[in-house]
Amino acid sequence: MNNKFIIAIDLGGTKIKASLFNFRLQSKAEKIFTTNKFKDKRVLIQGIVDIIDGLIEENGLSKKNILGVGLGMPGPVDSEKGKVYFLPNICGWKNVFLSRILKNKLKLSVFLDNDAKLMALAEYNFGSAKFSKNALCITLGTGVGGGLILNGRLYRGQDNAAGEIGHLPINLSGPICACGSKACLETYVGNKRILALAKTVFQRDISLEELSQKARQGDHKAISVWEKIGECLGVALSAAVNLLNLDCVVIGGGVAQAGVVLFKEIKKTVYARSMLVQGKRVKILKAGLGNRAGAIGAGILVKERLGI
Ligand SMILES: [Zn+2]
Repeated sequence: MNNKFIIAIDLGGTKIKASLFNFRLQSKAEKIFTTNKFKDKRVLIQGIVDIIDGLIEENGLSKKNILGVGLGMPGPVDSEKGKVYFLPNICGWKNVFLSRILKNKLKLSVFLDNDAKLMALAEYNFGSAKFSKNALCITLGTGVGGGLILNGRLYRGQDNAAGEIGHLPINLSGPICACGSKACLETYVGNKRILALAKTVFQRDISLEELSQKARQGDHKAISVWEKIGECLGVALSAAVNLLNLDCVVIGGGVAQAGVVLFKEIKKTVYARSMLVQGKRVKILKAGLGNRAGAIGAGILVKERLGI
């Protein structure tokens, strides 16, 4: 298996990350592209094909060396059928049998799953949820995704749609969400909302990086923004903790970089708002694999599906 490799594509709303892994899922090469370079669905699919072909060629490999391709998609999918239902933050995707299309073009085995589910798989196998049996992994970004590990296995639900903590309503009424509902957690803690809240507080545009940096330096205005976000997250997580009696919640994604202030507020709220037994049990942890989790999860998916 020394000359066998796996390719993982982590498709995000802003970036596409392509990784070449060896059989043990150690990264051998990585390339990053901007998603909006690929204008529509057809161009994006061809772009993915070219990225994969390029990765194989640039590393002196041929398709015989590739065991399979795993894709992490930022939206609901049917992993078994390799079908993308839709992508809330990338236009023009509806009911696309992406695995089949890519398989035909690449002549390689192709598997896909929702990116947050892949993150959960990765954190459970190699990251912060490694010693956990019941974990919720949540990824904070433009969208808010989630993946559940229950009784030591990724829980998919009846339609492979379980784990969508970002679309847990946290209020009776509230902002309209990309999913079509309202008052979903994502509308309170997604990047857009954080930026809007920060703009109100600072009376100017401020980036997430600057907001995190200012909070770390003790800026009260920045801290107040992260506290508000942490409180909303804490409320939603309390619901999940009470419902599922989790032993850990793993938080990743760009926003998790806000660090201590955000985590302090999340923990405070979860312990205050969840029931005694469940609240005492659960640990709130930062993701261990950072932005590599999606790609590693896609690699695990390939190995699982091929039974190797
Ligand atoms: Zn929603």
